[in-house]
Amino acid sequence: MRNLTKLGEPEVLALNHEGWLTEYKADKANSTKKYRYRHSEIKETLKAETGYKCVYCESKIGHNTPGDIEHKIPSSKDEEQHFIWLNLTIACTECNRRKNDYYEVGNEFLDPYSDDVEASLEHHGPLVFWKSANTRAETTIRILELNGNNRQQLVERKINKLEEFSNLIERFLVQTGALKMLLWKQIQEMTGLGSEYSAMLDEVIQKKGIIG
Ligand SMILES: [Zn+2]
Repeated sequence: MRNLTKLGEPEVLALNHEGWLTEYKADKANSTKKYRYRHSEIKETLKAETGYKCVYCESKIGHNTPGDIEHKIPSSKDEEQHFIWLNLTIACTECNRRKNDYYEVGNEFLDPYSDDVEASLEHHGPLVFWKSANTRAETTIRILELNGNNRQQLVERKINKLEEFSNLIERFLVQTGALKMLLWKQIQEMTGLGSEYSAMLDEVIQKKGIIG
């Protein structure tokens, strides 16, 4: 999970969120009225602010994992939040399914837009854990199952990424000159916001004390 900055509210939402809410509340069985937040302008902005990744596990949102609009406060707990920009983000199907309608006042999920999530979590290989006594971080990780083997596909992808990154670092450490610079550029790219599992990779270079 990375610390994120919320982008500006898409115009289509700013202009319509009140009207959309009124129509939705009056006709809840109508899926067109319910899912208006899936508008392409809204989804594109959400993808841009998360680096085209799931806000929780950092898997790329793409053809295989289309990604669902995620309500930080579920509509089942507060329907007024259904079309509120600050309540919307994007998550992969696997994370979305696990979070479901979890919401508990005082023990909310970590919020990458307002919490320092990078300081709240620690990575052990492909697994993510919480810093001690951080109950919100622990709750988030346990519900999403990011700390164990229940997400086998995700864990495998992260192991592959770690192997690729270790090879890159080994080469960076022994090279000199222009090639070293190019390898450093790739390290920066892989630890940047837009890259998959970059929080995990960023922690690797911090632990190793590597700087350009
Ligand atoms: Zn995810």
